[in-house]
Amino acid sequence: MSRLRTKRKPEAGPSRAGRSSLPDTARKRLIRSRLAAWYGRCRRDLPWRRRADDPYAQLLAEVMLQQTQVVTVQPYFERFIARFPTVQALAGADEGEVFALWSGLGYYSRARNLHAAARRIVEGWGGAVPRTVAELLTLPGIGRYTAGAIASIAYDMRAPVLDGNVIRVLTRLLGIEEDPRSPAVRDRLWAAAEDLLPARRCGDFNQALMELGATVCLPRSPRCADCPIRSACRAFREAAVDRIPAGGRRTKVRAVRIVSAAIARPDGALLFVQRPARGLWAGLWELPSEELRDGEDVESARRRLAKRLGGIGRIDATPAGEVTRLLTHRRLVFTVFQGRASTRARARWADRQPARWVKRDGLSELGISRACEAVLALVGA
Ligand code: SF4
Repeated sequence: MSRLRTKRKPEAGPSRAGRSSLPDTARKRLIRSRLAAWYGRCRRDLPWRRRADDPYAQLLAEVMLQQTQVVTVQPYFERFIARFPTVQALAGADEGEVFALWSGLGYYSRARNLHAAARRIVEGWGGAVPRTVAELLTLPGIGRYTAGAIASIAYDMRAPVLDGNVIRVLTRLLGIEEDPRSPAVRDRLWAAAEDLLPARRCGDFNQALMELGATVCLPRSPRCADCPIRSACRAFREAAVDRIPAGGRRTKVRAVRIVSAAIARPDGALLFVQRPARGLWAGLWELPSEELRDGEDVESARRRLAKRLGGIGRIDATPAGEVTRLLTHRRLVFTVFQGRASTRARARWADRQPARWVKRDGLSELGISRACEAVLALVGA
């Protein structure tokens, strides 16, 4: 896909902060009609769009799409909806199976909230996904954006959405140069997203805005030459595209070092332990691991890990290798050791966390994180 970079010099003049305003009626009409025509021509064929009249499919897609790219979500969505085709099916599912199907998608609290939301929908609405933003907001894991997306897409309610893509399009379209993370600017953007909504087909309009942000109005090098609303775009007209939306300081990333042990029985089964019910990767399964303390070296943490294993098996003295994973706020470095246990070794782990032996063919039924998958790949599991 060709990307055109806008490199016009900014016009000289007074600060533009505060000069942006909501579009007048004619401009709104132009934006709506151009976006609708473009969306009809250019929208991507996505599995949840083929189920536009299924509110449960929209709920599932919107939860999966939180913090996650479309390309990653697609196969998860297809597998999940094939296994749990209705709210009732999901509500009646075992949490372990829900986690197993979510494995690798990240942000696992979403899976727990989705499962709880399905049960709430069955109990409170007889299995029909609620229609209004106010009702949707009472469900676990559903915020203002997700509620607006479900209400507008599934029920054509006049509800705005504001995600990262929409924020980028609207700040540029309206020429808003202030930081969109500030509450005041955020309020203005919500108001603008609502003001722009047409009387009907609000779901399509919202999806068109999101689609434009995802495929044309890109963070760097937006494809303004291909943009259907270029003539209405203030940032384009004022050569301000490169500086809108205003950036900010990057999130500070904390480095975390971890030692992990792949303890194998003679039959190839590996020892897995379940993480606590709260915190990072809550409730998922992983290899026995220890986080390095401040100033601690790997050898000391390896000995501590061996002690916690309490004689289940022996850990090699030298590591099999390292795996690095970057999360939003953390850079995780796993130093991975291999080890052996006898056939009759019991599965147990410190602090009474659940533990079990799992063979390679049983891994797909275990809820594990992408980081754990990478660690397992290192030891050939
Ligand atoms: Fe985004 Fe460029 Fe379109 Fe403006 S003209 S909305 S900056 S792609």
